[in-house]
Amino acid sequence: MHELQHWVGGKEWPGAGGRTSEVFDPATGSVARAVPLADTADVGVAVDSAREAFPEWRDTPVGRRARVLFAFREIAERNKGDLARAVSAEHGKVVSDALGEVARGLEVVEFACGIPHLLKGGYSEQVSTDTDVHSIRQPLGVCVGITPFNFPVMVPMWMWPVAIACGNTFVLKPSERDPSASMLVAQWLADAGLPDGVFNVVHGDKTAVEALLTHPDVRAVSFVGSTPIARSVYETAAANGKRVQALGGAKNHMVVLPDAELDVAADAAVSAGYGSAGERCMAISVVVAVGNIAGPLVDAIRTRTEALVIGPGTDPASEMGPLVTAVHRDRVAGYVDAGVSAGASLVVDGRSLEVAGHEDGFFLGPCLFDGVTPDMSIYRDEIFGPVLVVVRVDTYDEATRLLSENPYANGVAIFTRDGGAARRFEREVDAGMVGVNVAIPVPMAYYSFGGWKQSLFGDTHVHGPEGVHFYTRGKVVTSRWADPSIASRKPGGPDLGFPTT
Ligand code: NAD
Repeated sequence: MHELQHWVGGKEWPGAGGRTSEVFDPATGSVARAVPLADTADVGVAVDSAREAFPEWRDTPVGRRARVLFAFREIAERNKGDLARAVSAEHGKVVSDALGEVARGLEVVEFACGIPHLLKGGYSEQVSTDTDVHSIRQPLGVCVGITPFNFPVMVPMWMWPVAIACGNTFVLKPSERDPSASMLVAQWLADAGLPDGVFNVVHGDKTAVEALLTHPDVRAVSFVGSTPIARSVYETAAANGKRVQALGGAKNHMVVLPDAELDVAADAAVSAGYGSAGERCMAISVVVAVGNIAGPLVDAIRTRTEALVIGPGTDPASEMGPLVTAVHRDRVAGYVDAGVSAGASLVVDGRSLEVAGHEDGFFLGPCLFDGVTPDMSIYRDEIFGPVLVVVRVDTYDEATRLLSENPYANGVAIFTRDGGAARRFEREVDAGMVGVNVAIPVPMAYYSFGGWKQSLFGDTHVHGPEGVHFYTRGKVVTSRWADPSIASRKPGGPDLGFPTT
């Protein structure tokens, strides 16, 4: 069986940890390859490589750093099909969806190509006699990214392009469930001219993560994953003196007001609910139907859901692929059983789906529940699968109360034709990302991405301006240059008073 390696110092490196983990082809259920799991010493080797590469990379002119990213972007654009197929083969998502993830990731690379402009500081002339002030932002050193399985290209690209462009070096710990895409990216960065050691990949699990969070040479940690791990990463990294941003799970609500465009709302609910088999942090998992639109809306969602084509991600006819592992598929199916037992109405039941020729694949058909109440586990928990639940309420206020009581606050959406209601929603809702007649309001790369409440621990969102801020620290320089040939500028003797202008 093919065994992957780590990427350290500009080349593949087997590590000495000895432990490995199986990587599956979710469409067939077979083991496709093994991935090494780094131990503490392996992590140390990767961090050493990044630390040693830092001084030279930090001193590389900013325009030259940007040029490496331009070159990487060209290579990735030319070969994006390979990257998308690598994602699909281990994650299971359909190739067209994986191409979308690659495109959104490359938008962050394009943003980071503008780093000479983004790193411009401020300057104030003559703040006092002969005295000027300027501010600069400088890189931190070794930065770390720890990323989830569901976006093996895009989520790392929320981090490393900005970190590297700012002059940092980077150690990526991708999900051990779909690790291959990161190796392609590492090779292409080397091909683009990135110096050895600036970008490293260590594969691993909890052991590798703990080694990174406690390593004295790591300066900053960006994490994306489930809420319990995000909280613990935030606490451990902060306790070890590191700058940290830890993005967690979600339970995204889509509020549909009675005046909404029915077809638009139904299309959006199905696309955002079942795209990528619901394994998106910005997936819609709860539709809150307000008033008399509920009946027609559930009918419209049901019709569309029943028509979805489920199959292997590599089949161009497939609209939805399998789930990432058998364990995850069974966990999601368990939630569907629990919803039925709790008394919710299962309008579309995907549990018995079989995909011909792929009987051992990790498939689960889309499931739609109506009549869901907030006490049910299918409402409370992040399921992270193709399960969409509909909660019926009578008023706008009841809908927004549900949102404010929810512990997660990643993305929310409202569907309406009433601009006043949309504006009120946008201003009042407690969430980091808001869609108005848009179900997956993922910000563009030049804005920043992040949730509120238990969807993000820390105060800085990823990429965009907040990403540049996260990966740099500020310095303010006050300088005085007097021309002693001017009589009034001659030294006047010591003055022990506090300097004022
Ligand atoms: P996960 O929390 O299981 O894993 C994320 C990362 O943490 C992986 O690299 C994994 O190896 C590591 N990890 C796992 N267990 C660990 C432990 N006990 N200690 C230390 N590290 C550990 O998440 P996942 O299943 O890979 O991804 C799905 C989750 O990620 C969902 O909850 C989803 O909402 C969330 N997510 C959030 C966002 C966001 O922007 N907020 C984006 C994508 C995914």
